[in-house]
Amino acid sequence: MDIGFIGLGNMGQGMAANLVKAGHRVTVYNRSPEKAEGLVELGATAASNVAAACAGDVVFTMLADDHAVEAVTFGEHGIVAALAPGATHVSSSTISVALSERLAAAHTEAGQRYAAAPVFGRPEAAAAAKLFVIAAGEAQVLQPLAPLFDVIGQRTFVVSEQPHTANLVKLSGNFLIASVIESVGEAVALVAKAGVDRQQYVDILTSTLFAAPVYQTYGGLIARREFEPAGFAARLGMKDVRLALAAAERLEVPLPVASLLRDRFLTLVAAGGGHLDWSALSALADRDAGLASDDSA
Ligand code: NAP
Repeated sequence: MDIGFIGLGNMGQGMAANLVKAGHRVTVYNRSPEKAEGLVELGATAASNVAAACAGDVVFTMLADDHAVEAVTFGEHGIVAALAPGATHVSSSTISVALSERLAAAHTEAGQRYAAAPVFGRPEAAAAAKLFVIAAGEAQVLQPLAPLFDVIGQRTFVVSEQPHTANLVKLSGNFLIASVIESVGEAVALVAKAGVDRQQYVDILTSTLFAAPVYQTYGGLIARREFEPAGFAARLGMKDVRLALAAAERLEVPLPVASLLRDRFLTLVAAGGGHLDWSALSALADRDAGLASDDSA
């Protein structure tokens, strides 16, 4: 299939590479062009602008946030202007429910197709084609995309025919991950201050009652205080909690824990930690407990 791929950051790199390796003709575009170089070596074609990446049957976007997706989609030479009638925009970025609704309406009006396919999994999972794809859209739109989702992920879940529902599921999941990071950070600070080894504590948890990937991945990062390089930046994590709160407000669903997490992220970002992995929320718990950052306990 002829595929465009826009957004070659931590996640987009691996996803686009897997589409190339599966034999698709992939045209890649990134705002900072140097990020396309490795993919061109693999066999992708580099586009010099957004429109040039929209000549195929499908164009993926894997961009930072709403602002980036809006710029690339609705700009003068953006996706809506460039994509052929009948071609599909697959939005994999973690964006707001409201923007996903707007994208669906704009593509329908232009005679194009739209699917939301946000993903669970960090950059390592993207590189290893082990993502979980959370898809939503009309059945005739999703059906030809299924082989592409199989190339980038280990399993695809179809939520509903309404694309924005996939974005809501994704945002709710990230709200839960942030809750886990915060609570594990607090628990580790508690035992560490009493002299218990951080790594041993996480090993006990994750080999017994908490043997789930989210506790294993983030427990390890928190125990080792391994916040750089960021797999998922705190600034993006704060964005997702904010978007979960916005969706909840529209639906009139209180999320008191999310409100607290928003403030924790703001504290981390205000202290200069926006570029760190979002597991650095746990550093706030250490700090509040009076634990030094090099305290090995
Ligand atoms: P990233 O490494 O920061 O990459 C962001 C991408 O967006 C880059 O290609 C960047 O281009 C582009 N971009 C940002 N602002 C732009 C703008 N105004 N116009 C055009 N392009 C713009 O982020 P990531 O970790 O790959 O995440 C991408 C998306 O996936 C986000 O929505 C994130 O929430 C979601 N996600 C991330 C993870 C994870 O663990 N990392 C997991 C699941 C989902 P430049 O290279 O030019 O800056």
